This record gives sequence, C-alpha cells and structure tokens, in this order.
Amino acid sequence: MNNSKSSGLFQRACKVLPGGVNSPVRAFKAVGGTPPFIERGKGSRIWDVDGNEFIDYVASYGPLLFGHAPDFVSDIIAYAAKDGTIFGAPCEAEVQIAELISELMPAIEMIRFVSSGSEATTSAIRLARGATARKLIVKCAGCFHGSVESLLATAGSGVATLGIPETAGISRALAAETIVVEYNDISQLQQVFATHGPDIAAFIVEPIAANMGVVLPAQGYLEAAREITSSAGALLIFDEVITGFRVGAGGAQELYGVTPDITCLGKIIGGGIPCGAYGGTRKLMQHIAPSGPVYQAGTLSGNPLAMKAGLAVLQKIKTEKSELYPKLEALGKRLAEGITSAFQTVGKPVQLARQGSILTAFFAAEPVTNYTRAKQTDTAEFGRYFHSLLENGVYIAPSQFEAMFISAAHTEKDIDQTLEIIGRACRS
Ligand code: PMP
Repeated sequence: MNNSKSSGLFQRACKVLPGGVNSPVRAFKAVGGTPPFIERGKGSRIWDVDGNEFIDYVASYGPLLFGHAPDFVSDIIAYAAKDGTIFGAPCEAEVQIAELISELMPAIEMIRFVSSGSEATTSAIRLARGATARKLIVKCAGCFHGSVESLLATAGSGVATLGIPETAGISRALAAETIVVEYNDISQLQQVFATHGPDIAAFIVEPIAANMGVVLPAQGYLEAAREITSSAGALLIFDEVITGFRVGAGGAQELYGVTPDITCLGKIIGGGIPCGAYGGTRKLMQHIAPSGPVYQAGTLSGNPLAMKAGLAVLQKIKTEKSELYPKLEALGKRLAEGITSAFQTVGKPVQLARQGSILTAFFAAEPVTNYTRAKQTDTAEFGRYFHSLLENGVYIAPSQFEAMFISAAHTEKDIDQTLEIIGRACRS
C-alpha cells in the first residue's frame, strides 16, 4: 500500500498537533504505523490522499448511519449553509428535531441540544447533581462518556487503548466524587449503593457498552440498575451517544424496555455535524437554566446545520425504520457469522459481540462481559489483524476496544468482500 502522502502529512502533523491528531485513537499508537489521511467518503467507502480505497467500518465512530455523504444529508447541509450557519437565536429546526426525538424516545419529554457527546454527559451529571443535591457519580469501568473530568476514571475507548491509568490534569477532589464499578456486576452496584446511597446523584452507564469493544448487558442488569437507583433516590443516566438510533429507532432503552431518568445523545442526531443532547422528563429538565438554577449554555448549541442535517436523518429513520433496522441486523449477522467461521477455519479463538450494526471481534477464548475480561484479550494479535485488513482495503478502528460500525450504505457485497479479506488475514 502506497502511503507516501499520508506519511508526509503525518510528519508535518506531529509538529503542530499533539501526536499528530485531534483525537487520540486516530493516531494508531496502539497498533503502530501511520494513519491514512482521508480525503473523501461516499456510501460505505473512504479514499485516502494516496488514492487507497477502503470499505469503512469506523463510520466516524458512529454518526454515519446512512454511510458517507448521503445526498439527502449533503444537499440539506449545502442549502442550509447558504442561509447562514449560526445566529445565536432560536431556529425552527430545533423545535422540529426536539419534537421528533421526543416522539421516537418517549422518556425524553424535554431536551437540550449541545455540540458534542462529551458536553451532553457533562451537562447530564451537572443536572443530576443539581436536581438531587448529591455529589457522587457511579460509572462503569470500560465505559466511556467523553472527555469529561469526573468520568475519565477507568474509562474505555482511547483511555483503554493507550492504557492510561489516571488522566493527568484531573484533581483528586473530582476523582473522589466518582465511584467505578464493574459493568454487568449487580451485586457490586448493590454494595456501592448500600454504602453510599444517600450521597449518590446518579449512575451513568452505556446501556450497551461499546467503548471496551461491544459488551452486551447481562440479562437483568439494566433492570437491576433501574431498581437500585430508584430505591436510593438517585438518577439513572443512559449514555446512548452510540446506541441512540443505532440499535433501533428508540435506542437501547426501547430494546431492553428500561426507562432512564436522563438520556445522553450525540453522533447520529447531528447527521455528521457536531451535535449532542441530553433529555428526560419535563420535571427534571426544568431544573436547567433559564427554567431553573442548573446553568448550562453554548454559543454553538442547536446549530442550524446540525439541527437540519439531524432532522433529515431522524425523519428518514422514522419513515424507514421497519426496513432499516432489519437490514442492519441482517448485515451485522452476516459479518459476525462470517468472522466467526473464518477464525474457526484456522482454529483461532475469537469472541463476537454484536447488537445489530455494532460489533467487536475479541481476540479471546472466553466471552467478554466486562472491562477486566476486555483487558485480557490478545491486543498484539489484534494489531496484526488490523494491519492485514488495512493493507487489503478494510478500515476498522485501530483498537481492540472499539466497535465496528455498519451503515445502511453497506451492501451484502461489501460484507462478502470484507469476509474474503478477513479470511486471508486469518490464514496468514
Ligand atoms: N459517550 C459515548 C458512549 C461515546 O462513545 C462518546 C464518544 N465516542 C462520547 C460520549 C463522547 O462524545 P463526543 O466524542 O461527541 O464528545
């Protein structure tokens, strides 16, 4: 694979951007090598500056449910940009998208739009603390909720990939207000609430974990989390920044039939433009300024480009959901089964974890149910697998602790071509 232009750009980037990138996991630090610099994307494919073509399963880590640059989104962004990109005043699309999200996710009676998933989770825990007048937040090891001071403890995604034990720059006082529990461990959650219950503002969790690789909630886990938080008078926050509109039109909360107090959203709801949001019951959301005393504001919040692009995506989801999600499920199943059989053929252990269009192939002999198990996977083997795929035109995240994302633009042909490449990678 010729990557001379990418290499040149990476060398220049390393002089002016820390690690050569604007988000750590893009740097290939865990797997080695030079990241391709991407020039354009269309549908299921991306092309780098050296002209290499890849079938893309990163999908910008989740936002691109309909693939790269779908015409119905690109056209709306282009038209919207001509009318002005930001006003610092309300616009109609904010009301329309809020109404639509509330219709698709009934637990969200009111919503506040922000500019990223991290801003959504930051604001959600501020709301939880403000509404309960309590200070402690409980989170799971291996779950990632963005680069949020008090939520980076034992976090997944890039923090897990780089093996960073404690993030420098976060004060002890803040870290002390976060309690970390193992994902899927009901008795540990019960113990923590038995000890600290009256001081706990919220338990924040990815209802389907997707930042230590994909890890599904064990049967009864989310129901138990609902029950434990409610009886302690604490709030349950579902971080659906990845799963929202990805695993179904009503998110993981609809899939599992568990209703959180606050839902955090991002990625898909902005149609590929920076966006995040948090929402919940009207009573709870009225704590937010200017209705209530919990202050949260943003110059770029409810940005018209994000609102219009997101609205187009959510409208399409609403009208096409009965075909869209079965299609994503079928593609996900085909890919997962194909990967399992490719590994079986060469007698290598692999554990496939999947919900619809998000999946992870763990290099492990035992199923991965939590962060402890995720860390025991064979990351060196993953590195070799990753490079073999990249060299042959399949782009997956450069980390064992991320998901593969399939979009509605992927076809069975894309999946079969991918499986051929994976088969070759396994044999070599
Ligand atoms: N929550 C989850 C579950 C995420 O996966 C991410 C980012 N991958 C975030 C929050 C933070 O979102 P953003 O990168 O938009 O700040």
